[in-house]
Amino acid sequence: MLEFYKTPNCKICKKKGIRIYQKKYTDNDLITFLQTYYGKKRFRFFKKRLENVNYNLNKCTYCKFIWQENSPKEKFSFDLYDKIIDKKESLIKSKKKFQLRKHKNNSEINFIINQFNTDKVNVLDFGAGWGHWLYSGDKSKFSPYALEMSLYRKKYISNLGIKIIDYNNLSKYKNFFHFIRLDQVVEHVDNFKIIFKLLKKLAIKDCIFYLSVPDGGDIIQNKSKIKLEKGAVQPLEHLNCFSRYSLIKVLTLEGFKKISFFEIINMHLKNLLKGEINISLLMRDIKDCFFSTSIKFKFR
Ligand SMILES: [Zn+2]
Repeated sequence: MLEFYKTPNCKICKKKGIRIYQKKYTDNDLITFLQTYYGKKRFRFFKKRLENVNYNLNKCTYCKFIWQENSPKEKFSFDLYDKIIDKKESLIKSKKKFQLRKHKNNSEINFIINQFNTDKVNVLDFGAGWGHWLYSGDKSKFSPYALEMSLYRKKYISNLGIKIIDYNNLSKYKNFFHFIRLDQVVEHVDNFKIIFKLLKKLAIKDCIFYLSVPDGGDIIQNKSKIKLEKGAVQPLEHLNCFSRYSLIKVLTLEGFKKISFFEIINMHLKNLLKGEINISLLMRDIKDCFFSTSIKFKFR
């Protein structure tokens, strides 16, 4: 198992987990999934790296959390996102999404800007992908920054005129950001607690955070719902599967708290007083405040 390392204990509370699913990466149905997902040709490139490895899912009943016991090591993970995944297809998908959502994204960004009484609101998209969310905003009104590991995506983002912050030189941005967004990121990162430690360094004390992960609530409740498909648990990529409960538990343990319903309403009033109104975001924020794994939070 040269390309993987083992995490037998719960990543949240460190208690021993229960194995709820087990399969060899060389089993036919898992191979079929990987061939379909990555393409047969691409799968052939990394097939060897999966030999003698199990796709195991462990669950912590205390935290209502599932994780993959064997995670790809850094090099394999980097190759997976930077070389193996079809970049052209991923960019086309992101561009399409951008066309559909740019007005909505812009309105989301304005909402953030309106929360602060400063002319320079620093916004970080942590795990920015192709940078399209930031690119939707009016750059004269805020300073967009992206953190991204993939070299191809980084190059693309800087061509959009968005500043890239270097993972190895984050000390420049201590107490710097007013808003940090982590959209579909934390489920991919094996040691996600490191991210929360980083957030604490990068954020100003009134920083607003937004974190969204696939909702694994159903799967965590009922393991018969686990399937080999793109979803809340997914071989190689979705290493962590959160329920709303586990997500809030992690945030609390790491020194954060969910923004309350009352605070959400106040934030929308502030937006309104600055001449903006965003009903769909208000509805979404209220729903997220009570039901989802997309959470706005701040320091405790
Ligand atoms: Zn646990």
